Amino acid sequence: MLPYTSIQEAEAAIGRSLTTAETLWFNYSFNKSDYFLYCHNILFLFLIFSVFPLYYLILEFLFRNSIQPYKIQPKVKFSLSDYFNCYKHVMRMFILVVGPLQLVSYPSVKMIGIRTSLPLPSIWEILAQLVVYFMIEDYGNYWIHRFLHCKWGYEKIHKVHHEYTAPIGFAAPYAHWAEVLILGIPSFVGPAMVPGHMITFWLWIGLRQIEAIETHSGYDLPWTPTKYIPFYGGSDYHDYHHYVGGLSQSNFASVFTYCDYIYGTGKGYRYQKRVLQQLREGLESGGDQNGVPLNISSENLKVD
Ligand SMILES: [Zn+2]
Ligand SMILES: [Zn+2]
Repeated sequence: MLPYTSIQEAEAAIGRSLTTAETLWFNYSFNKSDYFLYCHNILFLFLIFSVFPLYYLILEFLFRNSIQPYKIQPKVKFSLSDYFNCYKHVMRMFILVVGPLQLVSYPSVKMIGIRTSLPLPSIWEILAQLVVYFMIEDYGNYWIHRFLHCKWGYEKIHKVHHEYTAPIGFAAPYAHWAEVLILGIPSFVGPAMVPGHMITFWLWIGLRQIEAIETHSGYDLPWTPTKYIPFYGGSDYHDYHHYVGGLSQSNFASVFTYCDYIYGTGKGYRYQKRVLQQLREGLESGGDQNGVPLNISSENLKVD
């Protein structure tokens, strides 16, 4: 809750007029507790888990023909009831694990110093912190994910997430409850090391889940804005990990590609990309003249 009762009081305290964003924030948050503001994450996560995968569902069912060239595993088809069952599992986990975790983790958020006060951070401060959060989470997630692929971790926990060898947007948070809890840790380390404003924290939690949904979408869409982010893995990258399955020792990173590159776990994927490219070039230069169709997809050539 803000320690001011009026905008004038807030302006006197920070020594200047409030910006439009700060006035909006004041009007919205001045009479709400920090705990209540933190709990907004529950609503945001519910909306993100429910709404963002719908975009891919609509593409799948209403634009199937035009979107088919961008489907990473084109032979795999799911029915509406498959989508619904996945969503049901995710919502059960949301009600039993994700929501309660948000409710009880508030003291740690308070302890690390996430603030709700004025002034608001600048756009650049928010962006810089988000980049740091993504990089720290990516590194932590890489090692936890790699550990989950040892025999015990996979059999006891991670197998659930890999039930989808061709992932879909709704399946991004589809996982064993223990995995949901364990992978929450690296998400928290960034804000703990570089604590920011509650708005930055909301953005971080939301964007991380949107990124996971896109990565699991099953579509490598050319207009996806994340394609312009350096070292970004994306859907094709993580789809490869799911396709290879439980024995996969490739593409463990959740967001970027640098960890897999540094630790040598991206070799299988890069080899596959190289061979596919050579096959396509070979077919373009001679194959199609002989009537050989250019229909090679990455699904036909997965190695690990
Ligand atoms: Zn995995
Ligand atoms: Zn996955």
